[in-house]
Amino acid sequence: MDGEEFRKEGKVVIDYIVNYLENIRDRRVFPDKKPGFIREQIPDCAPIDGEKWSDIFKDVESIIMPGVTHWQSPHMHAYFPALNSYPSMLGEMITNAINCIGFTWASSPACTELEIVVMNWLAKMIGLPDDYLHKKGGTGGGVIQTTASESTLISLLAGRYVALKLYMDLYPNVSKHEIHGKLVAYCSDQAHSSIEKAALIGLVTLRYIESDENYSMRGKELQQAIKEDRENGLIPFWVCATLGTTGSCAFDNLEEITHVTQKELLWCHVDAAYAGSAFVCPEHRTWLKGIDNANSIAFNPSKWMMVHFDCTAMWVKNSGALHGAFNVNPLYLTHEYSGLAIDYMHWQIPLSKRFRALKLWFVIRNYGIAGLQEHIRRGVKLAEKFESLIRRDNRFEIPCTRYLGLVVFRLLGDNVITETLWKRLNSRGKIHCVPASLKGKYVIRFTITSPRTNVDDIVTDWKEIVTVTDALLKDNVV
Ligand code: PLP
Repeated sequence: MDGEEFRKEGKVVIDYIVNYLENIRDRRVFPDKKPGFIREQIPDCAPIDGEKWSDIFKDVESIIMPGVTHWQSPHMHAYFPALNSYPSMLGEMITNAINCIGFTWASSPACTELEIVVMNWLAKMIGLPDDYLHKKGGTGGGVIQTTASESTLISLLAGRYVALKLYMDLYPNVSKHEIHGKLVAYCSDQAHSSIEKAALIGLVTLRYIESDENYSMRGKELQQAIKEDRENGLIPFWVCATLGTTGSCAFDNLEEITHVTQKELLWCHVDAAYAGSAFVCPEHRTWLKGIDNANSIAFNPSKWMMVHFDCTAMWVKNSGALHGAFNVNPLYLTHEYSGLAIDYMHWQIPLSKRFRALKLWFVIRNYGIAGLQEHIRRGVKLAEKFESLIRRDNRFEIPCTRYLGLVVFRLLGDNVITETLWKRLNSRGKIHCVPASLKGKYVIRFTITSPRTNVDDIVTDWKEIVTVTDALLKDNVV
């Protein structure tokens, strides 16, 4: 494909994308396919001779789209949102055209420079204290990681570096490996599985703290666990507080938790993967109380803020801990400003880095803070609407407080009846949800996702739930 063909076909693809997104409501949100369906339709081996673009492009609609779960659909309510937007897509296009690899400042100065500025913008937009900002002579700052999972792992490894250093200084005769073997990390029993994965990779013990009746981790329980572990000769070093849990969007009590972590000299990481976008609205920042005393925080603009995956915003107060954990300095990566400018390779696990700041910059500028606030508030209002529809039907219960855009509901009675409802709903493909277990209670999670979702969509979804429920209760599934 040459430049002229790209110019022509690119315009066709743009038209296709706009038509796809603007008419996405008409597609079945969840595909009706079985594993292996693509293998049945395309050859086993790659073509020897290049194919015509028109033949390739045809297969998008005929082979790919029938197997797509349409995450941008107003009827997509599973997981947490992964929204896109036109300015973000334009950012991705330019990023792809540039395709620089920003591991050091010199490997593409604009990549690092823009990331620094945009991460400061975003920190101010969600109300983070100054300590998390890039400042002359300061140690804080933001970095764009791929995912919340990776940010958690990075934070845990930074915390581990700090703890090992501290305890090796305190006990010079004890080996690093012996200290390492005693390290304990903590999170709530509602925390995302990525915390467990971080502990597995970091080779540290993870202890779950039982959450309270609101699915929130509290300081007292954390303090008690730390005390027990210290008495058993273990070394508590890192805590992950979740703001917006995956199961029910519950919030750990950050103020109480950071009170404990400060006193006990533990690293506190805040996982706000989904809920972090809501902090652009001042009325949702009450949950951030205590952030002054935490050490790192991450959230995904790639979830609710309409910036394409991948884009996870992570801030730390002490970037020196990241350098300590990740610093390698081969000669071929040194440059004129080594040690003076930020080299993001020291802030992340991979060496290479995409120019992700561009799409984030475009979205923030094109929507403005006011536009992003409006987007969040609209989502929350639609969730309130859905909640009110459920509450009017006494066959259902909402077993926990609704926060932000996630409504959790179940049918009264045994878990099996809600599980059957969920299976039937998903198999019809008109709406798509995932379940969760809240302290043994089987629930269906309904997240408001697309910025295209309107009240009519919510009412349509509710009617679908009622239709399936009526049939299910007639079938006497118990
Ligand atoms: N933390 C929480 C609270 C989440 O809900 C999720 C995913 O939804 C994650 C972490 C993992 O996010 P990522 O896919 O960006 O690693």
